[in-house]
Amino acid sequence: MSERAAEPLRDVIARHGLQAAKSLGQNFILDRQLLARIAAIPGDLTGAPVYEVGPGPGGLTRALLDAGANVVAVERDRRCLPALAELESEYSGKLRVIEGDALEIDGQSEVAEGAHIVANLPYNVGTALLLRWLGDESWPPWWRSLTLMFQREVAERIVAAPNSEHYGRLSVAAQWRSEARIVMNVHRSAFVPPPKVTSAVVHIAPIAAPKGLSGKVMEQVTAAAFGQRRKMLRQSLKGLPGALEALDRLGIDPQRRAETLGVADYVALARELS
Ligand code: SAM
Repeated sequence: MSERAAEPLRDVIARHGLQAAKSLGQNFILDRQLLARIAAIPGDLTGAPVYEVGPGPGGLTRALLDAGANVVAVERDRRCLPALAELESEYSGKLRVIEGDALEIDGQSEVAEGAHIVANLPYNVGTALLLRWLGDESWPPWWRSLTLMFQREVAERIVAAPNSEHYGRLSVAAQWRSEARIVMNVHRSAFVPPPKVTSAVVHIAPIAAPKGLSGKVMEQVTAAAFGQRRKMLRQSLKGLPGALEALDRLGIDPQRRAETLGVADYVALARELS
């Protein structure tokens, strides 16, 4: 192991003066064993393209590189760039760092087709990117899998089943043409500084999309239904042309509420309206 590879992340952070900035949602993971376990979640990464969002001081980045990945990493905080540049030279030709806001960058054009996406992000940025990745026009999408750290509560929303407290728009978006599961919980104490709540890593992989419906219509239907989740469908879907007739044709009681419909019901509804 080179001297740099053996250097504790705590020292890398100190050497580059990377005090965590709350405004950027910075909670760093320093435990290399934990980082290696996260990097193993997408599967064998030997020679595989990986798009990492929010590498920070580069702990997870190094774990991905050690797993054999070719990494493109997007980081918004310029202060992190010197630490990442060290990694770039250490793993010559295997890492490319882009300075910028991931919300404004088109990942698809930066990384090879079939890339695994890996990110430990502030949850609002993570959720916005997740919805963008799940809403890809073409399916299967340009990415092969998503391995994302979220607050445990957000992770539960992603994998939730109907009739449960957490079931909603995010659950349907993540499940109608993907498989989503919580792979591990990560205690607050694993982060520096520790966030207020427990986190969890979610793994999402695309599956064959049901035929005969458009993703856009799916988004419209779930936005309308869950926009007023306490209301009956006949009320919440009223503004969506043809939706009440579609419920009738499908034999779905308009007095039901959004959270009682399964993912397959939303697929059927979106298909009727596509
Ligand atoms: N990956 C590192 C780790 O696991 O220790 C850092 C994780 S920290 C929770 C989130 C990182 O995302 C920070 O480095 C932060 O600067 C970066 N970040 C926040 N918003 C971002 C955005 N919109 N685009 C790119 N990076 C962002």
